[in-house]
Amino acid sequence: MSSAPTPPTTAPDRRQRQQQVVQALAAVLPPTGLLWQDEAVTPYECDGLSAYRQRPLAVALPETPEQVGAVLRACHALQVPVVARGGGTGLSGGALPHALGVTLSLARLSQVLRIDPVARLAVVQCGVRNLAISEAAALHGLYYAPDPSSQIACTIGGNVAENAGGVHCLKYGLTVHNVLRVRGFTIAGELLDLGGEHLDAVGPDLLAAFIGSEGLLGVVTEVTVRLLPRPPLARCLLASFDDVARAGDAVAAIIAAGLIPAGLEMMDRAMTAVVEDFVKAGYDLDAEAILLVESDGTPDEVAEEIERLSEVLRAAGATRLACSEDEAQRLRFWSGRKNAFPATGRISPDYLCMDASIPRRALATMLTAIAELSRTHGLRCVNVFHAGDGNMHPLILFDAQQPDELRRAEAFGNDILRAAVALGGSITGEHGVGAEKLDAMCVQFTDDERTQMHAFKAAFDPQGLLNPGKLVPMLARCGELRPGPGGAMGQSPALQAALAELPRF
Ligand SMILES: Cc1cc2nc3c(=O)[nH]c(=O)nc-3n(C[C@H](O)[C@H](O)[C@H](O)COP(=O)(O)OP(=O)(O)OC[C@H]3O[C@@H](n4cnc5c(N)ncnc54)[C@H](O)[C@@H]3O)c2cc1C
Repeated sequence: MSSAPTPPTTAPDRRQRQQQVVQALAAVLPPTGLLWQDEAVTPYECDGLSAYRQRPLAVALPETPEQVGAVLRACHALQVPVVARGGGTGLSGGALPHALGVTLSLARLSQVLRIDPVARLAVVQCGVRNLAISEAAALHGLYYAPDPSSQIACTIGGNVAENAGGVHCLKYGLTVHNVLRVRGFTIAGELLDLGGEHLDAVGPDLLAAFIGSEGLLGVVTEVTVRLLPRPPLARCLLASFDDVARAGDAVAAIIAAGLIPAGLEMMDRAMTAVVEDFVKAGYDLDAEAILLVESDGTPDEVAEEIERLSEVLRAAGATRLACSEDEAQRLRFWSGRKNAFPATGRISPDYLCMDASIPRRALATMLTAIAELSRTHGLRCVNVFHAGDGNMHPLILFDAQQPDELRRAEAFGNDILRAAVALGGSITGEHGVGAEKLDAMCVQFTDDERTQMHAFKAAFDPQGLLNPGKLVPMLARCGELRPGPGGAMGQSPALQAALAELPRF
């Protein structure tokens, strides 16, 4: 961020800085809690966005919240940047190390501290994996609703930092709607305690502001989450459409009918073929788009909702409709959607997973723009969406070994984000801005808005030591992108051509 310290730049400077940092951290961590040799820190050099890599000076692996506080105080005293890291599954480079900073891995803070079935909440350390919360709560017939597809590996601390979403978030809300309290530390090692076990805390809602702040405001060590009773039954409808626009309209029609399904996901024809080849979920390979629509509740509630959903889908032009007959079939239907990313890894050496949100009514328009951009940039793209909340994940396929393909993939991705903004949407739905989408932040927000964001960050971290260079771009960076006052802010000719053909809302 704006006031990040000027780092030493030469190799001897770096070594000297590393020695200082290692000495200070060794004094506050157990012997197995500090890594600094090149081969030891290499596994931490990237997150899920593996196109960007950087080795940190050192990796700290504290085992207790007290050690986290001590690491932060030591780094603060030395004015060393700190990048928190949970499971390292982030897709926007949020946990990408700082070349002259410390990566603070929180994976060892992995205890479920308390499950309270009466108050329906769980208190867990930040390194607990998302799925492990539901596994611990299952004994009481409860679960934690937000379910990112990475839930087997991502941590609740990372979910808080990214305000993670998932299939069930349309009905049950994002991380921000399911977290009651976070505890942790500021960069100076002072205790942070936001929210409480009750529904609303006193004063301004700093908890909500903290959730989604991508590790820039403080380091979370403990999270209190809301638990829900596991619904007795869930069934999934699989609907085929011979036209993407009709599938998009069906999504809008479901919501307009007052129905909020437990999941409402969409895949285009190309993505359906890729996942069907991998998991054999039983998808219709002739469809231009398929929808997965889930209903949960008591058997009576589910029966009624499935009937109403089927009516709406038929009226919207579904060409085929199948409903899961048992739990095994329901899981098979979902297995394709849940495996969309690994299935894509089978057909392309590399892919960039974009994350943008658009108004539901613009789904088909956006797909048309992506198809046009795919032709112009000369790269393939497959599409999967959390359609219910307009959150798209176009996966741009490329080969980093081929000259120029990474750069073209990035340009294609930037055009998709700009198209989302042009259609009234946003440059991120759930994966965050991180290091990846800094330029797109210049398109989404004005200089005044970004200045306010820098000021908010500075209230927690005046020296800009926590995760510097992420989330909010420097004003100068945006200035360089803008072609002129009131200009198109970096819209490429490819995007301008694609947008010129599209209807406006
Ligand atoms: C296959 C796959 C599928 C995915 N599906 C989804 C999905 O459906 N929905 C979704 O929302 N995301 C999804 N993601 C993205 C990713 O899993 C989420 O963003 C997740 O919340 C990251 O958690 P993490 O523990 O891995 O965090 P990391 O990647 O380690 O870190 C992410 C950010 O959080 C910060 N951070 C981590 N821990 C802390 C802490 N304790 N205190 C303060 N800051 C911290 C880091 O500095 C960084 O900025 C997916 C990723 C993959 C690889």
